[in-house]
This record gives sequence, C-alpha cells and structure tokens, in this order.
Amino acid sequence: MHFLSHSLENYITEHSQKEPPLLTELTRETHLKVVRPRMITGHYQGRVLSLLSKLISPRSILEIGTYTGYSAICLAEGLPETGQLHTIDINEELFDLQKRYFNKSGYGHQIFQHLGDAVKLIPSLEMTFDLVFIDAEKTQYDGYFEAAIKKCRPGSIILSDNVLWSGKVVEPLAHGDKATKAILEYNKKLVDDPRVETVLLPIRDGLTMSRVL
Ligand code: SAH
Ligand code: CA
Repeated sequence: MHFLSHSLENYITEHSQKEPPLLTELTRETHLKVVRPRMITGHYQGRVLSLLSKLISPRSILEIGTYTGYSAICLAEGLPETGQLHTIDINEELFDLQKRYFNKSGYGHQIFQHLGDAVKLIPSLEMTFDLVFIDAEKTQYDGYFEAAIKKCRPGSIILSDNVLWSGKVVEPLAHGDKATKAILEYNKKLVDDPRVETVLLPIRDGLTMSRVL
C-alpha cells in the first residue's frame, strides 16, 4: 500500500541518501531466494533507520525480527566501535544468509544473532538496550514491548514498525483480522502508556518512536 503518490515517493527517495550497494544486493538476493520478500525494509526506510541510529548513537541495540538482515545492518551503522546489536529471529533457515551479509557489511563482529521466540529470549539477555526495533509477528508486539522495556533505561528509544498496517488501522475491522486488531490495541496502549512518550511517524508503513521515561 502506498500512502503517497508514486511520484512523491520517488521524489522523496531521490532526495534521500542513496542505498548502499550491499543493501541493494541483499534486497535482490532476498527476492530471489526467500519467501515473503515484501517484509524487507526498503531503501528509504533503511536510510531513516540508519540516520536515527546515528543520532541516538546507541551502545547497544535490540532488534526483534531479523528476516534477511537489512534493517539490522542499517541500525548497526549508528553503533560506536565497541557497540553491539542483538537481533532475534525464530526462523533458522535465514541464519546463514544473515550471517553472510553481516560479515560483508563490516559489522559482523558487532552483530549477535539469536534464534528463537523473542518473547522467551529477551529475558535471558543480560544487558540494557539504548535502542530497540520491534518488527516481528504483529500479534505479538505487546509481548515484545513488555519484554524489551524491562531491558531499557530512561532515555532508551523503542521503535515499532508497520503500525499503520497498510492503512487498515483506519478501516472497518474485518471479522477475524487478528493482526489489525492487535496493532490497533498496541497503538492505543503506547500512546496511553505513562512509561513512554510516543510519536507515530508516517514513514513507509508507519514507524512509532517511543522514548522511555
Ligand atoms: N526487520 C526485517 C524484517 C522482519 S520480518 C527487515 O526490516 O528487513 C519479520 C521476521 O520476524 C520474520 O523473519 C520472522 O521469522 C520473525 N519472527 C516472527 N515471529 C517471531 C518471534 N516470535 N520471535 C522472533 N522472530 C519472529
Ligand atoms: Ca517492517
């Protein structure tokens, strides 16, 4: 779904930083080899994630939903040399492809891949995160958020992706549409949650930024 006209989207992309060649290559390989390539972060949103990460300059990043590693590499661009990014995915088939691109990116030694259900895994990570990117199963966002916020400090930033869910958040809810229902409840919870201050940004499919108080 495109919220803006194609011509405006093209204009915006053309006037934003170019996509690094490695990420163009990763997008191509994802489309050739992996199911559901629509899930990958694209050129424009990837550059937004990269710049946000550079602004935040996080020592530690938690990503929930690695897929083929595109967003992880974008976020890693903001890490200082001693910083770490921990990324979690439940699909073991993606592990080797992710690893290959993390190594090619030059951030391989800073990116730690975790395999399993994020809700179960996050409590075992014994560290605090300055930046969290939530981008896995939409019906589980609340569980990811609750697990992640326990690992945050005041000032940590939690990003939640796809919160406009192709615009379905403002359409009548279809019977049995669990993902949209979950996203609607999640968006409401975030804006009402006194532990964070939240702004929903209309970037691509919707990207919410929450700052932990
Ligand atoms: N962040 C990626 C896209 C993620 S797509 C990018 O921008 O390129 C969503 C991913 O979440 C899929 O790879 C899927 O395997 C993973 N996922 C689904 N449920 C999960 C869970 N419970 N824990 C961890 N990962 C999960
Ligand atoms: Ca996404």
